Amino acid sequence: METLERPALEALQLQRLQDTVRRVERVPFYRKKFLATGLKAEDIQCADDLRRLPFTTAADLRENYPDGLLAVSRDEVLRLHTSSGTTGKPKALFFSRRDLDNAAELLARAFCMTGVTRSDVFQNMMSYGLFTGGLMMHYGAEKIGCLVIPSGPGTSERQLMLMQDFRTTVVHITPSYCFYFADFLEKKGINPRKDLALRKAFVGAEPYTEETCRKIEAALGVDVYNSYGLTEMNGPGVAFECEHKSGLHLWEDNFVLEVIHPITGEPVKDGETGELVLTSINREAMPLLRYRTRDLTSIIPGTCPCGRTHRRIHRITGRSDDMLIVRGVNIFPQQIERVLMALPQIGRNYVIQLDGLDDLTVTVELSPSAFDGEVGHLAQLQNQIAEKLRAELWVRPKVDLVAAGSLPVAEGKARRVIDKRSI
Ligand code: AMP
Ligand code: ZN
Repeated sequence: METLERPALEALQLQRLQDTVRRVERVPFYRKKFLATGLKAEDIQCADDLRRLPFTTAADLRENYPDGLLAVSRDEVLRLHTSSGTTGKPKALFFSRRDLDNAAELLARAFCMTGVTRSDVFQNMMSYGLFTGGLMMHYGAEKIGCLVIPSGPGTSERQLMLMQDFRTTVVHITPSYCFYFADFLEKKGINPRKDLALRKAFVGAEPYTEETCRKIEAALGVDVYNSYGLTEMNGPGVAFECEHKSGLHLWEDNFVLEVIHPITGEPVKDGETGELVLTSINREAMPLLRYRTRDLTSIIPGTCPCGRTHRRIHRITGRSDDMLIVRGVNIFPQQIERVLMALPQIGRNYVIQLDGLDDLTVTVELSPSAFDGEVGHLAQLQNQIAEKLRAELWVRPKVDLVAAGSLPVAEGKARRVIDKRSI
């Protein structure tokens, strides 16, 4: 399936798309939309017909909470996962037996393509529960036959004990926790390269830059693979880096991929950044048509040297709803992260805060070895960072430098932006 020739892959996509449209005709929400446009499943005859289908948004999921978008009877569902947004009810997603099996299959592909085998010991440091990062990844690893340690986020002491006692080789972890854990190891005097068997990390669940990825590789002595997914589309395993790490292969036999202009809704060219829109074409319980992920990425043109035919997307550079408007300028938190992580004097954690009318403050941890005790040097560094940020953002933020380890670390997804503006 991973190397299926494009014409065969596209034929399979079309057939699965037609089946999916037929399936969602049972869902009142979609039936109403189809009625409004006069669309029928038979009308979907080529890839371009996809654009005749309606978009589905996070708001649609919330409005149809708890089970308005379910396309099968309640008896056919085996599992519920949720994803919480910023306000109100979570998004509830249902999975049938076949859906769960397929989700595990896609993750098994990811494990295989990053070189994980049954001899590996996989420690899943993501939260088990309503969040998909725990259970979904767990079943993927079991399909490969690794020894799975379902540690969950837990305390660093316990993570380390398990890693040492069972010789963990692969971890699944968020970028922010990576840094926290690296600091913890440093304090304990543990050198991960010498003292642990770790060799790979699947890092995802939140956006991070190439620079952060390099820092994690250096700090933990592991090979990092970017893991992308969202609950609406199974959770992790939607797109994953292969051994070439030149973008993430998105499993097109399960998802139809579009990248659109977030405002006009029109497709953007390959290589251009836009919003990722996904249609799940291999889901029974709750397929979604043209789901607006809000994640910003681009399609990487050309083929991958690994031989997989599924197209690749660029690492997510942010979310269209993450954009901050500061003094009329559009700023993405990722731009700030890119500048900070490229500086050797900068540590591993940062927070962006907006106050008053439009005052932007970036608080960053220094790397433990960066400060020589000279206050003058600190002011110089502060100024240098503010200038670099101004060149990138066109707005000069106030920069606060703090000691390594002094900013709070989230157990789940990191909260990087605190917006306290009065308007
Ligand atoms: P959830 O459904 O709660 O697991 O959240 C899914 C969201 O997390 C996605 O829509 C992305 O915004 C973000 N996300 C997940 N994996 C990645 C990744 N590898 N890079 C960037 N963002 C990610
Ligand atoms: Zn590849």
